Amino acid sequence: MLKINSIVVILKQHSTIYIMQIKSFTFNPFMENTYVLYDDTKEAVIVDPGCHEKAEKSALMQFIKNHDLTPVKLLNTHCHIDHVLGNAFVKSTYDIPLWIHEEELPILKSIPAYAGNYGFPNYQECQPDHFIREGESIKFGNTILKTLFVPGHSPGHLVFYSEADSVAIVGDTLFDGSIGRTDLPGGDHETLIRYIKENLFALPDEVAILPGHGPGSTIGKEKESNPFVGKLARY
Ligand SMILES: [Zn+2]
Ligand SMILES: [Zn+2]
Repeated sequence: MLKINSIVVILKQHSTIYIMQIKSFTFNPFMENTYVLYDDTKEAVIVDPGCHEKAEKSALMQFIKNHDLTPVKLLNTHCHIDHVLGNAFVKSTYDIPLWIHEEELPILKSIPAYAGNYGFPNYQECQPDHFIREGESIKFGNTILKTLFVPGHSPGHLVFYSEADSVAIVGDTLFDGSIGRTDLPGGDHETLIRYIKENLFALPDEVAILPGHGPGSTIGKEKESNPFVGKLARY
């Protein structure tokens, strides 16, 4: 019994050594949340870089430099313009591959046609290097992110979930008291509701959700009170 207990203690200590840390930035006129995930190994992934202005790019670079981080992957939850404005900058600055779901490729490719109308005439295209499969594990440092497929806001939308850290980067699927809009190309309201319930709400209640816009929440709070998908939802 003593032996078993001591093993448990060692495992717990071990898991706290490599705890993931998350830095968020709010970038561009869409007030998009960009996340840098890193652990004690100093390896990092950058999720949905929305940096567009020079000052935004500098803020991201400065943080990475100050914390002595080595970015190893660039991930997109989905490829709407507000989440990918900094893709080309991040990919070229750190020489890292862009990972997306294959069904986001048409969304990504359509951006140059409308970027100018949205006020981003200097948008730079950036090609993906790897298509993430549903359920694929993404590793950096000692951290493992599971990928959950939650389409509906966009056709290939992914959520990145660290089970060990009880946190999920949910993009524009589920917000604090709301859900993603579904009136953009490739969007579908019923699909979004269904996948939130089937895939996101399968996570433990205490899991923190960090969305693409606005403040964070938890799975438990949204299950309880979200007006679109929670217990009191009328749809
Ligand atoms: Zn979006
Ligand atoms: Zn967004």
